[in-house]
This record gives sequence, structure tokens and C-alpha cells, in this order.
Amino acid sequence: MSSEKDGSGRLYVVATPIGNLDDISARAIDVLRSVDAIAAEDTRRTRKLLSRYEIGTPLVSHHEHNEDRAARRVVERILGGHSVALVSDAGTPLISDPGYRLVRLAADEGIDVVAVPGPSAVTAALSVSGLPPLPFRFEGFLPRKKAARRRKLESLAGERATLIFYVSPHRVGAVLSDLVETLGDRPAALARELTKIHEEVRRAPLSELLDGAAERPPRGEIVVVVQGERSE
Ligand code: SAM
Repeated sequence: MSSEKDGSGRLYVVATPIGNLDDISARAIDVLRSVDAIAAEDTRRTRKLLSRYEIGTPLVSHHEHNEDRAARRVVERILGGHSVALVSDAGTPLISDPGYRLVRLAADEGIDVVAVPGPSAVTAALSVSGLPPLPFRFEGFLPRKKAARRRKLESLAGERATLIFYVSPHRVGAVLSDLVETLGDRPAALARELTKIHEEVRRAPLSELLDGAAERPPRGEIVVVVQGERSE
């Protein structure tokens, strides 16, 4: 894909699995195989995925600590005629992952930015939550510090859309407790380790999810989905 029809390079934003490596699209494999380079958050992690599909494309590092510099380098490469695929460790790049600066810069330079869509924990969790799917509001990770987290949640108390949060397992008790206190005891779902061996979805009011987390702490990767205010 180094020479597209018009001879210019492209930036492909490629979703990768959130657990089960079979959840990659045929097109994603094709694109990863045929671009000149893959910009990856963690090159070692992406290498595992590439070796599973026997993809030998060179990897370049692109993570949040070097994003400005890395983005500029990738854009220069594309302007020189190469095509590059952006991936993150799991799921869709930019969704609580690096990539925004690269996409912005590429778009500003007139580069074709092409989506190769696929898994994301936000849509996977929402789709099995049993809560109203639309409208939804994805907040990503809440602030780590309690005061800032409470302020954020208070600002969401009147939101009618279904709310979706990414939650670190270390903070799940604190987050559920803040959710009950700021939003009230609403219907909710806790989805963890989706597509993996220990996949589990707990559907219950927030207070029950909180009690359950105390009795049986949910481990691994977690998404919490909460019904919006008075939504059906
Ligand atoms: N870009 C990714 C996406 O599209 O979902 C998200 C990256 S973010 C750094 C990682 C967070 O996503 C985890 O802490 C967890 O909240 C959520 N997550 C990722 N994989 C998951 C899975 N298999 N099951 C549940 N949540 C997951």
C-alpha cells in the first residue's frame, strides 16, 4: 500500500482485539500486512498479534509519552509516500488511547485518514449491558483523585444518556461507591474481561454491584455502564 492510486500515503486507524485474538477483521489483517509501517503503543504487545497472523511489517513506537514527536515523524513518512497503520494495545486507537494528535496532524496535512473499524470495550460492554443503548455518553476513565472524581460525577448527575466508564480494578470499589452516592442507586452493569476466559457481566443496581465487588472483587479489565437519569 505504499503507492495508492494517486501515489500518496495514507494513515489507517486500525482496531485490534480487546482480548480474543480471533476478533480481528480480515481487512485489518490485510491492511497491517500491506502498509509500510505500523505505529504501535507497545511494540512488544503488538508483535504478539502480528506473529499470530504472520505479519512481518516493521513497527515504530507511538505512545502518549512521545506522541508529538512520533506523530510528526509518522506524518513526514506518509507525506513521503508511505502508508502507516496506527494501532493501540487493544481495541480502537484514540478511545482512551493515544492517536488523537497523529490523526489531527495528518488531517491538517491533507492526508487520507482511513478507519479500519473493529472491537472497542465501550461498544462491547454497552451491547451486552441490558441498559438503554441510545443515547450513550462515554467518559473513559474517571479522575483518579476522589475530589475530582466526585466533581465529575456530580456534573453527570442530570445526564439522561446511559453513562459508560472504563475502571481500573484497583479503583472499582471507590468508583462504585462514588457512583451510588452521586447518582443514586440506578440500574447498572459491570462488564469485565470481555471476550476472554474470565468474561463476566454483572447486571444489578449500583449498590448491589458495590456489595458484590466487596465480596468478590472483580479482577482484570472493567467497564461500568450506568443508566442515565430517568431513562427507560
Ligand atoms: N482503546 C481501547 C478500546 O477501544 O476499548 C481501550 C483502551 S483503555 C487504555 C483500557 C481499558 O479499556 C481497560 O482499563 C478497561 O476499562 C477497558 N477494556 C479493555 N479491554 C477490555 C475487556 N476485554 N473487557 C472489559 N474492559 C476492557
